[in-house]
Parts: sequence; C-alpha cells; structure tokens
Amino acid sequence: MKRRELLKYLSVAPAGAALPLGGFAMPAPKKDYITELGLRSFINAAGTYTAMTASLMYPEVMEAINAVSKSYVMLDEVQDKVGERIAKICRAEAATVTAGCWSAMVLGTAGVLTGTDLKKIAQLPRLDGMKSVVLVQKSHNSGYVHALTNTGVRIVEIETLEELHKAINEQTAMLWFLNAHANLGKISHEEWVAAGKKHGVPTMIDIAADVPPVENLWRFNEMGFDLVCISGGKALRGPQSAGILMGRKDLIKAARLSAPPRGGTIGRGMKVNKEEIVGMLAALEKYVSIDHDKEWKDWMNQVEYIAAQAKQRKGIQTEIVIPPLANHTPTLNIQWSTGDISLKPAELQLALRNGAPSIEVLANDKGISLTVFMLREGEYKIVAKRILEELKKSA
Ligand SMILES: *Cc1c(COP(=O)(O)O)cnc(C)c1O
Repeated sequence: MKRRELLKYLSVAPAGAALPLGGFAMPAPKKDYITELGLRSFINAAGTYTAMTASLMYPEVMEAINAVSKSYVMLDEVQDKVGERIAKICRAEAATVTAGCWSAMVLGTAGVLTGTDLKKIAQLPRLDGMKSVVLVQKSHNSGYVHALTNTGVRIVEIETLEELHKAINEQTAMLWFLNAHANLGKISHEEWVAAGKKHGVPTMIDIAADVPPVENLWRFNEMGFDLVCISGGKALRGPQSAGILMGRKDLIKAARLSAPPRGGTIGRGMKVNKEEIVGMLAALEKYVSIDHDKEWKDWMNQVEYIAAQAKQRKGIQTEIVIPPLANHTPTLNIQWSTGDISLKPAELQLALRNGAPSIEVLANDKGISLTVFMLREGEYKIVAKRILEELKKSA
C-alpha cells in the first residue's frame, strides 16, 4: 500500500477501540513486497477464490512454517507423523498432505487404481490391466473431474440410484461425489457410500470448500467414504497450495506411492514441502480450536452492519443468505433496480476495486454480493463506508 493510500486507509478505519473490530488481526510485514513489486493488494470481501489467493494463513501457520524451515527432515517421515495427527483430528484411518484438494483427488484415484503395485504406478496414466471408469452423478460432473481423468480414467455419468447400481461393473474403479453439488443430485451421500460398499468399489468425496461447519472435517469419514479430499487454503487458512487426502489406510498408503519424494509417477509435480505439510497441520489444529459459534456471530454482526449502512441509500434492498453447501458463511446481497439507482452492479464492483483501499466483491445481474469471513480486523467498516459512498454518488 502506498503511503498516500495508507493515510486514506487510516482515515476511514475506526478511530476508537470502543466498537468491536471484527475480522482477524494480521501482523505487519518487515519488508513490504506488495509495494516493492507494485502489486495491488485489496480487502477481500469476495471469498476464498484461488485467483485472489483465497485466504490469509493464520499467524500460527506462519510460525509453524518458519520453525520447521530451519531443519532437515526426511519428507516421508514428516508425512507419516503429520498424517497421523491429521487422521486423529479428522477421525480418519489415515491422512496425507497433498498439493491442494485437486491433487488429493489425483493421488487418491491413482492409489485406488494401482494399489501398491509399483509397475502400475510407473505406468499411469496408461491403464492396461487396471480398472478404467469412475462413476459420477450427472449434476456433479464439473470441471474438477479433470483431477480424476488425469490418472487415465474415463468419467461415466449416471443420474438415479438404479442407474448407479446397473452401471457398476468390473471396469468401475471408483464412485466420486461432489459435496458442493449434493443438493443437485438424485443420490444422497449415504446411498452413494452404501452402493460402494455393496459392490466393493471405493467411494471418494470432494469437500474442497466445505468448512465451515467444522464437523465436516470428520462427518464424511464417519459416514464411510473411503477417501475424503479437502482444500487446505480456503476457510481452513492453511497454505494455499496444500490440501488433505484422508480415508482408508491401504488407499492412503497406495496414494502416497504416486507422490513425491518418489519420481517416475503422475504425482511427481504435486510436491508439498515440509513447511506446507507442517503448516497444514498447524492450520487444522488452529481451526478446530477456535470458537466457531462466536466467529459465526461476528460474521452475522458484520454483514448486518454493512447491510444497514448500504440501506441508508434509498432504493437499496439487502438480504443475507447462507449457502447450504460450500462457502457456508453469511453472504450479503445488496440489490437495486437501475430505475432507482443508475449505477450498474459491475460499475460498483469496479469503483470499489479502483478505490482506496481497493476492495473486491462479486457482482451479478441484481447487485453485488459479499462475504466477511476473509476480512481482516476492522475492514467490514471500511467496506460498508465505501459501498455507501459509491451508492450515494450515483443518481
Ligand atoms: C477449490 C476446489 C477444488 C480445488 O481445490 P484446491 O485446493 O485449489 O486444489 C476442488 N473442488 C472444489 C469443489 C473446489 O471448490
């Protein structure tokens, strides 16, 4: 942030400490690369988007990263020990840190296909002698299945439970479930798991963006999914390039054989260093220790505050929605008709982006939409003030 911007930032920041600040505190950097590189940093009221670098790691994660960065250890030994701790927290048989949820899906699928057969591991993505199909509900067939097809498998879509049972044959390697689309499909989690168990086919679930609620860390392990994949750098606020693969012990063991330090495998490019591995654990430990009820109340207070400010402009309607699955956090929609206010949603988004400080929100046909779960301390007031300023400017 340039000095001029910093002054402006400070001038809009709350003056006294009497009002709750909300959001989380982040220590100031020693050397300011953002300014040095001429980067635009911003207040993230959009959410955990990869393009926006998703989330800010907890200070505890950075401490863990710094601490472990000073020593050599064997990569497999860190994975062993950290995996045990993660498995315990998440009530899974076993776990391993991967290079994100996507990489967890690649490695998990590889493990399912190859087992511990080193010849098969070296052979992927050629599937000679292996199963070749992953079954997916049609409504779950999103771009993320590319993680699965990277191993060489083919996706076959089904829609009903009857179709699922009929489709399973000797070529069926795995059944994949996308939690974010659970409500769009015709087959429930429990039915999916039961079908896998009945036919002896492993089930995998993608819960990349599905904490909060914290219980989702163990819910799907307890439900009986053989493999569970989650992002480490979304709401868990671990390293952005980390994730977790957890589940059946034999499958985690097999999956790791396609991962570094081993070369000659499809997972060689999905390296996680010891800092990310331990950072992932630190994030998880921090995440399960925080007061989630209090955090939720803080979020509600913040979105309500922003809504109340925005509504000072005549013609503004607001609603607070909570997506039931994925990014389950209070989300504020600020809406208006262009008859009342000539400003277009995309124009407001741009004005907030180009203002000082820069703020990112989402825009749609009806207005803008924002979340507060990625905000730093006190930022919700700045967001509220800037939105109202821009709305008042418009005729
Ligand atoms: C973000 C996301 C992924 C990818 O996760 P990474 O941790 O970025 O690899 C996969 N699936 C879904 C549904 C996601 O939202």
